[in-house]
Amino acid sequence: MKNVLRLAIGSSLLVGSAMVVAPQEAEGYTTIGGSLGLAQRDLRVYNNFSGSNANNNNTIHSNWPQYDGAELALWKAGAEWNSRAHGDGTGDSTQSTVGSGGANFSFVWNGNASGVGGGNDNIISSLGGSSGGVLAYCETPISNGWRIRFYGDAWNWQDGPGNVTSGQDIQGVGCHELGHALGLGHSSTSSATMYAYAIGTGAPNRSIASDDINGVKHIYGTMSGGMPSISDITGSMTLGGNITITGTNFSSTGNILWLQSNVLNGSNSGGNMMKVTGLSSSGGGTVINMTLPTGGWEGGAVHVQSNGSGGSSLSESHPFGGNGGGSANDTIAMTISDNTPNPGQLVTLSWSGAPSNKSYTIVYSFTDGSPLFTTWNGIVGAGATTSSGIGSYNKIIPSRGSGRTAYVEMQVVDGGEIYNSNTVVVDIN
Ligand SMILES: [Zn+2]
Repeated sequence: MKNVLRLAIGSSLLVGSAMVVAPQEAEGYTTIGGSLGLAQRDLRVYNNFSGSNANNNNTIHSNWPQYDGAELALWKAGAEWNSRAHGDGTGDSTQSTVGSGGANFSFVWNGNASGVGGGNDNIISSLGGSSGGVLAYCETPISNGWRIRFYGDAWNWQDGPGNVTSGQDIQGVGCHELGHALGLGHSSTSSATMYAYAIGTGAPNRSIASDDINGVKHIYGTMSGGMPSISDITGSMTLGGNITITGTNFSSTGNILWLQSNVLNGSNSGGNMMKVTGLSSSGGGTVINMTLPTGGWEGGAVHVQSNGSGGSSLSESHPFGGNGGGSANDTIAMTISDNTPNPGQLVTLSWSGAPSNKSYTIVYSFTDGSPLFTTWNGIVGAGATTSSGIGSYNKIIPSRGSGRTAYVEMQVVDGGEIYNSNTVVVDIN
């Protein structure tokens, strides 16, 4: 029989688990039994959310490359439970840091799935119909995997990214459901994300509370001081490119880089990460120089596993704007009406070859290094592409750009794949 833990709205309905839930002494949190081993840390999204507000955030954030809409909201929902901050912790305007679990535990973002998957495939998706006041549920037991379903048609789901003032918050409810996926039951502490009843929009649930942190530490242990950590990744983040990973606590030999797999399916095999094994470090365990594989991966997030086997061997997640798609790099052709404009001048960026009817973002950087989507300084504009893939965007050159050279690229995200343009160089007078 399938056991489910459900998050209900209001105070009138709570459907509990069929499993025994044992309160911890002097704590609000409870556990459902079991934990996720390293082979079950993957988290994917089948984005079948169809509500008009569930996928209207089109802005790509540099700390969360290549994903937007419901996918970005659910990625952040999982990363909140991670041992340490994801990248620099930014990207959610309702909290200062995403990633504050403090345990020997991190979810491993593995991008998109192509179906809802089975009950153990670790995929989040939307579900038709309704069930009273229930917002979403997580299928348990968890140790061999889980599945989360949102009642997509029954509620006005919102993908943020700012505070949600009406409707239901995908990220906040996702954070609660993923708390079940990692082994927590409902908490009696009203400020906890794992509190049994959703409050209002659910946005406060995005940030886990001390009671939640105590809960995840109870299951996985307080984060080891020897856990590896990634502080920066530089180099050529393309197929076969050479990169340098900077951090702490890397083993001298036998490190493993966990990359997002490019396998897009609805079964467990798509949950397997692309792993590069046998990596040595230098600088007293602070630097890994390596060559990326020539296929099988995509950008989003990476982890480093040191030469160990438990949860304390796997680093927090780190943003990785790499382009594992190969052919998707520079597939959009973009030009500008004037490469040497004056401040205050109206220019037009024109393109062709973009994927049809998808969100696009145009960014600029003051340093040249395609793809720009981990290093950009600001957003030029955003919108939706047309069915022909041909379009344009008008922009007035800001006065603060005077005397500078800006590098401009366009990015279109389609099913977790990145398509970007050539770099347009703009020498501003
Ligand atoms: Zn719940």
